[in-house]
Amino acid sequence: MCGEPSIALWLACCNKLMTNQERVHCKFDVDDRCNACGMEVEDVDHVLRNCVQTQMIWREVIKHDRLEEIFTLDFKRWIHENLKNGAGFAKENTNWDLMFGGMCWFIWLHRNSQIFDDQAGEPGSISHRAKPWFQRAAASCVASRVESHLALVPASGICRWSTPPTSWNKVNSNSAMLLSDGFASCGVIQDNIGH
Ligand SMILES: [Zn+2]
Repeated sequence: MCGEPSIALWLACCNKLMTNQERVHCKFDVDDRCNACGMEVEDVDHVLRNCVQTQMIWREVIKHDRLEEIFTLDFKRWIHENLKNGAGFAKENTNWDLMFGGMCWFIWLHRNSQIFDDQAGEPGSISHRAKPWFQRAAASCVASRVESHLALVPASGICRWSTPPTSWNKVNSNSAMLLSDGFASCGVIQDNIGH
């Protein structure tokens, strides 16, 4: 998984996406209901999976006989299964982990666009909008595998930082960690143009 989708999924698993539930929790708002359906509390599970609007999106790409399972798994298990064992869920299952992450990211962007931008578009177009991103990410994966293979070749001369593929972030750390609790500093995160 790469770029913004991986960060969004990480925040979702930590329940730190700024949903209406979180906005009320932080006292930014008093109404935690979903803006799209108006029926339920908008938490991360509701936004990314169970809102009636979001379910329409998943029904486009998930096999019919796996839908019930997809909509009833524990939320974190749902993310884990799609990233690790999700190929069996999807109608087009090549690199499903990438497509799944991309779709979650585009669902979140769409939800924000509905609130902050009148040009949000139809939710049904999300899987189509996610596909160009998915194709670039899949190509970057191939490039990354080649780079990883080349990294196994013993280096000679000066060792220097190399850029990650487009749409990827690279984390560099000094591997230092506290043995007492296992915590480590994150290090430096940079994209392919060094930002
Ligand atoms: Zn909803």
